[in-house]
Amino acid sequence: MRKTGYHEITGLIHCLSGLRVGGSDELLQIGGTDLTCIKHPVTLKPYIPGSSIKGKMRSEQEQKLGKFGGLDNSEPCGCAQADCLVCRVFGPHKKAKHELGPTRIVVRDAASTRGGETELKSENVIDRKTGTALHPRKVERVVAGSEFSLRIGIQVWDRDEKADYDNLNKAKKTGGMALVAFVLDGLKLVQRTGLGSGVSKGSGEVQFDDLKLDGQSIPEDLW
Ligand SMILES: [Zn+2]
Repeated sequence: MRKTGYHEITGLIHCLSGLRVGGSDELLQIGGTDLTCIKHPVTLKPYIPGSSIKGKMRSEQEQKLGKFGGLDNSEPCGCAQADCLVCRVFGPHKKAKHELGPTRIVVRDAASTRGGETELKSENVIDRKTGTALHPRKVERVVAGSEFSLRIGIQVWDRDEKADYDNLNKAKKTGGMALVAFVLDGLKLVQRTGLGSGVSKGSGEVQFDDLKLDGQSIPEDLW
């Protein structure tokens, strides 16, 4: 087993709406503003954890390809099959023994490059019977117009030779480029649905700008 290549995708994450990173939708805090953004401990600027970007790409690709894990399909894919790009690129969930080799993708934390101020957005739950607002709370989010740097590394191993991926029916890619096409498609899916928490309440609309593959503009058949 041998590592045969490395690709890097870089660019900017442009926030079209406010962005919430760190808060949880499930956790309803009455009144307070406990749902705060994740911030760098030294600069106190918000950042987007690489794991958030990676997790969202993974779940979008799982939904697109119908790849799920667990008895009730509620967990990430852990099939570890050779033809499963989700497992090949992101790693098979909970499966310690497999033949796929190491996780191919590394997503760096996205540092703030523009804007990065935060605002408090009021959210509440409407009681369906009475029409009154319940559980008012304030959530902190990064203001629209902010930008973060995107950096994704993709390792290619000799055993990726037979990988293939149909990128939005643009062109079938094989080998290492199949992994790249798969990751770029994942970014496109995130752009379509959103990033972070509160997407259904209007947060997290992002656009990936200035995308580059290994320092060059992305070829037309990949984006
Ligand atoms: Zn799988």
